[in-house]
Amino acid sequence: MMKLFGSSIKDIAELYRKGETTPRQVVDELLQRIEHVNPALNAFIRLDKEHIDEQVSNAEKMLGSKQSSQLCGIPIAVKDIFTTKGINTTCASKILENFIPPYDATVIAKLKAAGAIIIGKTNMDEFAMGSSTETSYFGPTRNPWAPDTVPGGSSGGSASAVAADMAFGALGTDTGGSIRQPAALCGIVGLKPTYGRVSRYGMIAFASSLDQGGTMTKTVYDSALLLEAIAGFDPKDSTSADRPVEPFTTLLSPGLKNSTIGVPAEYFIEGMDRDVQKAVNSAIETMKRLGAKIVDISLPYTKYAVAVYYILASSEASSNLARYDGVRYGYRSGQSANLMEMYKHTRAQGFGREVKRRIMLGTFALSAGYYSAFYGKAQKARRLIADDFAGAFKKCDLILAPTSPTPAFKLGSKLDDPLKMYLSDIFTIPLNLAGLPGISIPCGFTDNNLPVGMQLIGKQFDEKTILNAAHAYEQETQWYKKKPDIH
Ligand code: GLN
Repeated sequence: MMKLFGSSIKDIAELYRKGETTPRQVVDELLQRIEHVNPALNAFIRLDKEHIDEQVSNAEKMLGSKQSSQLCGIPIAVKDIFTTKGINTTCASKILENFIPPYDATVIAKLKAAGAIIIGKTNMDEFAMGSSTETSYFGPTRNPWAPDTVPGGSSGGSASAVAADMAFGALGTDTGGSIRQPAALCGIVGLKPTYGRVSRYGMIAFASSLDQGGTMTKTVYDSALLLEAIAGFDPKDSTSADRPVEPFTTLLSPGLKNSTIGVPAEYFIEGMDRDVQKAVNSAIETMKRLGAKIVDISLPYTKYAVAVYYILASSEASSNLARYDGVRYGYRSGQSANLMEMYKHTRAQGFGREVKRRIMLGTFALSAGYYSAFYGKAQKARRLIADDFAGAFKKCDLILAPTSPTPAFKLGSKLDDPLKMYLSDIFTIPLNLAGLPGISIPCGFTDNNLPVGMQLIGKQFDEKTILNAAHAYEQETQWYKKKPDIH
């Protein structure tokens, strides 16, 4: 039975094909494992027990049919930012604690149509604001590699669940690094697709010009498989791109002949963790061995990325979060004499500290007299950052960089120092500003046995190239076979 847990989506699909196990068996065993392991990690904040049975029966019916997808009967965990019909969707906030959406997000509907089983909702930083999953109203999630450290964030619940074999794959969202950074800190694969590649209908908005949903899996193949299932144009999301979705899984090939990988000087900064630097440098050597040509590139505007991001993301958040006012849905404070008081009390009691900080920052940056100095200027700098990448891609097919400057850090160590926390995303944020796809894959371990991730960055809509390179590297190194010691 334990064999199941180390398995990838592809492995389980193969077992189904051979008739060696059934969705019912897999789900039952998985639920037992979750019950056993989750209390220590707090990766799931809700298990979808009521709805699981029906999904399992559907999957079992679908499995026999010829066109059944490899995702059929596979339990998938979902960040609690995606709306799930009839199941609480909270964004890990008190303000949405009792919100039960009347519809499924497009990505959820697509997974269900493929026969995947939505097993439960995972913990996250409140409204996806954070890099450690500590700002959740439901308490922090822990990293299975070292439970006194954070799993990263904001999709830390999804990362922890996949790393601890409580799910075969998961969905996350990435506004400034929230898929890639927790993937790196938990030793799994995290893919942020190109902006517009995956529908955001039913994905609760944080910063709409940056938000993108994506996949968190144990292997690159599984990432390609999940992406195939969730990508594509959606008439319900006006920002989704009308582009064909390639059969990513069948395009994966070993070796890296004919590919040129750029390494940006600005991503190897002073103060970066020594073990991270070592692991990424050795990954560069492996890429060379696999046939890639390595070239030095420069992305000079990188240094402005964090500042630009916090102005733009907070500004957009202040506007997006205006809808939580106690009138339409979610929490309403009961102690108010009039409407204005009700708004104030609801928002004061319903939002946590970090969310309030972002709303205030954003409101300030957008206010009359400051708009052009902050928001306007940040917009211009964003363009320069995007141009940096466009220039670099004239010299290379993809870019290799660390995902996070440090491995998992201790719980509580950055919570009172927002700037320190914000710098966790220094290498991931530039991609969101430029709308580019990026994948984080395991590339080694620190001396303390904490995973290190590296990032492969592609041109817009060129997920194929980064998935390929990631797959070639993964097959060569097989880091994914190493597991955290959690029972
Ligand atoms: N850590 C970044 C932030 O706090 C990014 C979060 C995200 O990608 N959702 O905003």
